[in-house]
Amino acid sequence: MSTLTSVSGFPRVGCNRELKKVIEAYWKGAVSLEEGRATAKELRAKHWTLQKNAGINLIPSNDFSYYDQVLDTAILLGAVPQRYRDLNFDNAEDTLFAIGRGYQGEKGDVTALPMKKWFTTNYHYIVPELDDASALQLSSTKPFDEFEEAKALGIHTKPVLVGPYTFLKLARTSAAEELELNDELLEATAAVYVEILERFAQLGASWVQIDEPYLVLDKEDGDVAAFQALYEPILAARSGDVKLLLNTYFGNIGDVYETVNALGFDGVALDFIEGREENLAALKKFGVNDATTIFAGVVNGRNIWRNNYAVSLDVINTVRSVTDRVAVSTASSLLHVPFSTAGEEALGEDVLKHFAFASEKLGEVRDLANLADAADDEVLRSNQALFDGSRVSADPAVQTRLDALTAADFKREPARAERQALQREALNLPLLPTTTIGSFPQTKEVRAERAKLRKGELTREAYDTFIKQQIDEVIRHQEEIGLDVLVHGEFERNDMVEYFGQNLNGFLFTKNAWVQSYGTRCVKPPIVWGDVSRANPITVEWSAYAQSRTDRVMKGMLTGPVTILNWSWPREDITHERQTQQLALAIRDEVLDLEAAGIKVIQIDEAALREKLPLRRSDWHSQYLDWAIPAFRLVHSAVKPSTQIHTHMCYSKFNDIIRDIDAMDADVISFEASRGDLVVLDAIEAANFETEAGPGVYDIHSPRIPSQAEIEERIGEILDKIDASKVWINPDCGLKTRGNAETWPSLENLVKAAQAVRTRVV
Ligand code: GLN
Ligand code: ZN
Repeated sequence: MSTLTSVSGFPRVGCNRELKKVIEAYWKGAVSLEEGRATAKELRAKHWTLQKNAGINLIPSNDFSYYDQVLDTAILLGAVPQRYRDLNFDNAEDTLFAIGRGYQGEKGDVTALPMKKWFTTNYHYIVPELDDASALQLSSTKPFDEFEEAKALGIHTKPVLVGPYTFLKLARTSAAEELELNDELLEATAAVYVEILERFAQLGASWVQIDEPYLVLDKEDGDVAAFQALYEPILAARSGDVKLLLNTYFGNIGDVYETVNALGFDGVALDFIEGREENLAALKKFGVNDATTIFAGVVNGRNIWRNNYAVSLDVINTVRSVTDRVAVSTASSLLHVPFSTAGEEALGEDVLKHFAFASEKLGEVRDLANLADAADDEVLRSNQALFDGSRVSADPAVQTRLDALTAADFKREPARAERQALQREALNLPLLPTTTIGSFPQTKEVRAERAKLRKGELTREAYDTFIKQQIDEVIRHQEEIGLDVLVHGEFERNDMVEYFGQNLNGFLFTKNAWVQSYGTRCVKPPIVWGDVSRANPITVEWSAYAQSRTDRVMKGMLTGPVTILNWSWPREDITHERQTQQLALAIRDEVLDLEAAGIKVIQIDEAALREKLPLRRSDWHSQYLDWAIPAFRLVHSAVKPSTQIHTHMCYSKFNDIIRDIDAMDADVISFEASRGDLVVLDAIEAANFETEAGPGVYDIHSPRIPSQAEIEERIGEILDKIDASKVWINPDCGLKTRGNAETWPSLENLVKAAQAVRTRVV
């Protein structure tokens, strides 16, 4: 029998982001729900057909989502908080969108559920809210409908579900606490999955994939028992010909493999990209249950480089030395890579041949299964040619600079407390200074002018004039509402990472390589191709211009090296540490030029620092923080004591690395907290956090306008934990995805709230 091929999940947005476009049009009232559904259906059909034609045996269904698969799971299980039910929409999609984005209108006023990053990716899931196990019951037909929809096209799919263990570990109570995995909850959850499997048995499904990425994390007391308690009834209830595939990814399950293996799943998918050593060791140590096929995740779902077939075959053969029941699979869902390299021919064949996006990875899965069945020297040879010799030559200037670095380059003097005093004097800011995170709404007009520039319909000069007008306007507006530290608005930037990439040596760019970030939002990461350095000043002219237009402090705005790397496609031929240091030197040049141009406050965004924190605690420092934090210090260590360095993180969950964040040695940090829990405030208090902090006082991911009272209340919560002299007042992230209509009233309320609180504190 030939080796089975399986794909864990496929990107759903469409090769031209059709899904994003139609959903956003629906939100604006420009198309009907029916039109949206029709587009979604066409996309599903197209993606299934593509996989079928590529020779994939187990094609995923229910990997489609209008917003987020975790939110879909919450709805499937009936975990929908009453306040969203009370909106009484007459269709499922509007309820879904209200949970994902909040809703403010004739039916009510609700905030969205919090959003968090999906493990170490830049994808965000909606955090399910669940207070009462008795609410759990099968409450949607989505997975079954999609299975049937594919069946009607003659495609027999493998339905995909977010698993019960991962779901419960990610869900929170309405008080933002972790769920207590008691018997009642475990039983109620398992019962719904049993029912789902029964339905699939009736529908004639042969494989059902249950995703349990949470299994690659460290286990807390009771976790393994909870996992067993969930799966014993589910496995026992298998009926018909349904086979159950336990899908794990983003790391290894070495610590629970023995338990998992004993449970007797029909299939266990292991990640041999991120968890290779530990997973192989576990297989060798414990063997493979007679009932189980190992799905070897050898095609990387997280990067865009071509698969090295020799390496993958080596893994497949090692697995085969333990069991002959082996399938070939992607190592994770392909959701995290772009759709196809087709259309990127401008990069040139010599470059493009090194890349495999989702569609091309299908071919790799097929090739590897074929190669596992029968040697094909031709296929192997042409693949090997991609990895023989070096792809690019090193830049000697970059190497020399890196080699010359000493410990002093990673340390800023004098100590922070001393700097903070100097800065207070130099900047002359009020208590609880107000600011924003950098970007202001990127209106249609701004995007249209940029497109014209790109197409050559607008001269550089005319474009620059336009951007300056935007800057002037945004400054005037900020002054009017009374913000303290201003920003220029980032109108010149398409994206906080791509923009810097475009102005650095060593990067390549695609036209259309979008990946989903959250909801309908997609990003287009640049590719690190060679050694990185800065050719010319990047932002200096804009920041200097902006500062010349106001008497208030203008904040310079940069993206930090860790974030640039994390939101790019990194090289696989040199370490992430080395790539980050190259980036740090490039941004350091920019910091010093901004300072020389008279910019007194410089924000270096490390929005993505937390997201690549290794999933296993034992790897946190050795594999990441030990070089990521010093790389940030390398960026700003040479500025004057009076220059204030800010950083920003799009994530509140850094209470567990709070000391490392403090060790970045920034003077001020702003972060997302309004949608998250308040735990981080406790952590800041407990850690004697030295960095001044601006926990976001409202959620910019939602179009709703927070009231002044609401923000005052929020500031009150912050001041309960952090000394007022160390608090900044700001939204929780950049405003570029918002419209002006909601942005300005929100900021006005923010400033008024800060002013009101000031009078009470002083
Ligand atoms: N300065 C960036 C902005 O305001 C930060 C964005 C982010 O954190 N994602 O858009
Ligand atoms: Zn942010």
